[in-house]
Amino acid sequence: MHHFEYRDGTLYAENVSIPELAREYGTPLYVYSAATLRRHFQAFDSAFKGLDHMTCYSVKANSNLSVLKLLAEMGAGMDIVSGGELHRAIKAGVTPEKIVYSGVGKSEAEIRQALETGIYAFNVESIAELVKINEVAESMGKVARVGFRINPDVDPKTHPYISTGMKKNKFGLDFENSLRAYKMTRDMKGVEAVGMDCHIGSQLTSIDPFLEALEKLLDFYGTLRDLGLDIQYLDLGGGLGIPYDAEEPPHPTEFGKALGEKLIGLPLKVILEPGRVIAGNAGILATEVLYAKSTPSKNFLIVDSAMNDLVRPSLYGSHHTIAEVVQHGRPAKMVDVVGPICESSDFLARDRELPEVMGGELLVVYSAGAYGFSMASNYNSRRRACELLVDGDKVIVARKRETYDDLIANEI
Ligand SMILES: *Cc1c(COP(=O)(O)O)cnc(C)c1O
Repeated sequence: MHHFEYRDGTLYAENVSIPELAREYGTPLYVYSAATLRRHFQAFDSAFKGLDHMTCYSVKANSNLSVLKLLAEMGAGMDIVSGGELHRAIKAGVTPEKIVYSGVGKSEAEIRQALETGIYAFNVESIAELVKINEVAESMGKVARVGFRINPDVDPKTHPYISTGMKKNKFGLDFENSLRAYKMTRDMKGVEAVGMDCHIGSQLTSIDPFLEALEKLLDFYGTLRDLGLDIQYLDLGGGLGIPYDAEEPPHPTEFGKALGEKLIGLPLKVILEPGRVIAGNAGILATEVLYAKSTPSKNFLIVDSAMNDLVRPSLYGSHHTIAEVVQHGRPAKMVDVVGPICESSDFLARDRELPEVMGGELLVVYSAGAYGFSMASNYNSRRRACELLVDGDKVIVARKRETYDDLIANEI
């Protein structure tokens, strides 16, 4: 459920009309709904209310400070994957004790920064990284709290680029190496093994792979306890999918219930790292049609948004629903919606039935709140878009559109 609805044939974000926003702020324009973000966070977090848990929003899904701040105010922790995301989380007012640090390649400087900040824990992804964290922490006279990201070899049945918990993926440690790593920590002065972690992939539309991974981790938990390790948290990562098209992912309540049944009564803090399910359908991308063009084989709508603004269709072949911002009731036509970038992979939709639209009219690209702006680039020297956060009648400029001078600001 989101708060983007038509009123008399015109699309609104909460109480504000999209054409009005486009007039004032230009296009391409990201618009996020505060009520939707709140609702999604609340629905997810309350699904685990029976458990000692911490919902750590995955910053990479949508890293805008206003979005982070809104979620932090609701009590969210954050899952970060870089020093830059740590900087954002702290700026947004997130409590350091609610930050978990994931990712396969944390640099020495990033490890130091996280230890200085005093985050909750590192999810460690290799033995070499463990050795590095131990070294850095010791040199600072600190003890780093760590968990290992375990690769449970489970098929999440999602796009290969966003599958992370299979044997062939770069992420985490298999059980054998995890066991080695946990044992190694017993002789290390700079680290303390306090957690277990896994994140098997993104946009999962079934609970089964989560349960399969959980089962394997709980087995392993027994082994670790037998070793005398004081495991305090179990981080199950993110990955719950959303409807982009006809997908029917489980509701967070169902997800929480299924996991809760396996976890209730265990002396573990459960950590969850939802990203897409919080932000994905809380944002849209508004774009203006520049030109309509027909070739002997296709009809193209050339719009002012491109793969640099929203790369998911180009990168993953993802479906984003596209519709008119103002409904004119014209007959439908089969079109490709493409951007101005000089790549054939620059498209937002292919072979889509859309009512006929004219140059100068607006389209909405739905489900653009996660992995939209956060994956944007300046390719073709395009300025990154403006981001707005709408809250009822209120419009917050969450990020100004970049200027041409912003584009070259760091160049000499
Ligand atoms: C990307 C990521 C997430 C969030 O995934 P979603 O599919 O957006 O929920 C959580 N944890 C880790 C470690 C990630 O890399």
